[in-house]
Amino acid sequence: MKKLFALAAIAAAAVGATSVQAQDFPSGKSITIVVPFAAGGPTDRVARDLAEALRKPLGGGTVIIDNVPGAGSSIGAAKVARATPDGYTLLLNHIAMATVPSLVRNLPFKVESDFEYLGIVNDVPMTLISKPSIPATNYKELTSWIAANKGKINIGNAGVGSASHLCGLLYQSATRTEMTAVPYKGTAPAITDLIGGQIDLLCDQTTNTTPQIQAARSRPLP
Ligand code: ASP
Repeated sequence: MKKLFALAAIAAAAVGATSVQAQDFPSGKSITIVVPFAAGGPTDRVARDLAEALRKPLGGGTVIIDNVPGAGSSIGAAKVARATPDGYTLLLNHIAMATVPSLVRNLPFKVESDFEYLGIVNDVPMTLISKPSIPATNYKELTSWIAANKGKINIGNAGVGSASHLCGLLYQSATRTEMTAVPYKGTAPAITDLIGGQIDLLCDQTTNTTPQIQAARSRPLP
């Protein structure tokens, strides 16, 4: 099962008297990229690559990664919404910028007005993987196994509205199965628990899943 999710860079909206003049930017001040998920996960990996790629065009300026995980990315997004709108605080997020506001009431930010959209950084496919010990080797066997174990199978995710959460819901709706969702602060800790056998399934970006499949620490379910 594959889905593409785009990671986009977003800045705190440049409004009001504190807006920076384009010609003054960057002024040698460090830029912070807020990653709204745990360190070591797919979003974090892309942010670190992006920080590296930005260093040269920024004249060797510092790019800091600030992991602010929790609540399916909304804690990190709220931090960026509160930041000074001067272009030095960026958020790297994905589909959660659209899904979290439709799933969570009373968010402390408004996606349309509190952020300035900067652009898409990359598209990442996702794969559904399991711990190696489950008695299913493909999508069809998996669906029968989940149906036969109603209420007993669990699937990790990075919180309500995250890409992994949506992917799990999509699978359950397509196969009419039900699983227990286990939320984490990102899919890095989720994949650690999958390998350790604490959770059964995870749907995550290939950035995270491919190395685990290649090392036979998890199983893909085509
Ligand atoms: N891959 C995660 C998600 O499901 C986020 C992360 O940890 O990078 O949205």
